[in-house]
Amino acid sequence: MTEDIEFSIVVPCYNEADGIAAFWARLQDVMATTGSRWEAIFVNDGSGDETLTRLNALSTEAAHIRIVDFSRNFGKEAAITAGLDNVRGKACIVIDADLQHPPETILLMIKLWRDGAEVVLGKRKTRDTDSALRKWFSSRFYDLAARLFEVPIPKDVGDFRLMDRKVVEALKQVRENQRFMKGLFAWVGFRTQVVEFEVAEREFGTSSFNLWRLMNFAVDGITSFTTAPLRLWFYVGSTISLCALLYGLYIVVTAIAFGNSVAGYPSLAALLSFIGGVQLIGIGVLGEYIGRIYKEAKYRPIYIVRDIIDK
Ligand code: UDP
Ligand code: MG
Repeated sequence: MTEDIEFSIVVPCYNEADGIAAFWARLQDVMATTGSRWEAIFVNDGSGDETLTRLNALSTEAAHIRIVDFSRNFGKEAAITAGLDNVRGKACIVIDADLQHPPETILLMIKLWRDGAEVVLGKRKTRDTDSALRKWFSSRFYDLAARLFEVPIPKDVGDFRLMDRKVVEALKQVRENQRFMKGLFAWVGFRTQVVEFEVAEREFGTSSFNLWRLMNFAVDGITSFTTAPLRLWFYVGSTISLCALLYGLYIVVTAIAFGNSVAGYPSLAALLSFIGGVQLIGIGVLGEYIGRIYKEAKYRPIYIVRDIIDK
């Protein structure tokens, strides 16, 4: 019976108890118009509220519901991964549970998929729901990513997307522990189309991404998809060495020409602390990459499942 499922809807949920019923109602309405068999895969990412109870209470004649319950909070990237690992449909759609991604857009995605697209990205028309600071940071991040990453990641595109089963199977092969999904999605490639959608305000609950979490998310992205920061230190080091050499020459020449007046103490102190600081930053960057190797080398699973509930 599960063989003829056409669409799998993957929904990561973290403390979404208040909104889940509204989300489910709208999703069902939308999916009913497709006339296809479908399933919903809810991943309960260690919610501290009633999310699991509410998920268990969902029911439908129209679709399969599978709930993947994590043993604790593993983060959205892990939740999406678990969802994709459970996909049985011919295409899958990843969507947030907070109704910020309008389920109606799924219909456009499905149309493009039927026309031959293997990936259909949801692109945000505006970023009006974001604070000015968040907008500024994400814009800088995409600029940087466009220049440095192994594969460019499309701008203003989040996790809301449709993927053909082929794409899901490709993603399943990527088992790296520190998962920057935006990057991984782009990394696997495939024929891609874009649909635009308007991000809605969050109606229930709060976003779990504050600026600090987003900054760390950006650092994860950068260290996952480029080694440019390591190379940067090579250039910084070379420049400073060259300056130091020229400065040394200058001191020797002035000492020979005008005699040595031992006037260098303040500049010496300034230089030493400057170079000390630069070295520490360099070590920090190195440390960031070594830390990632360390985490990766332990080869821990990406998530731990307490239960899989099929309904
Ligand atoms: N989410 C999750 N695990 C987390 C944080 C968030 O599964 O640790 C889910 C959350 O339930 C929602 C989606 O990821 O369905 C997007 O989260 P959120 O709305 O907090 O982020 P934002 O929309 O601000 O990017
Ligand atoms: Mg949200």
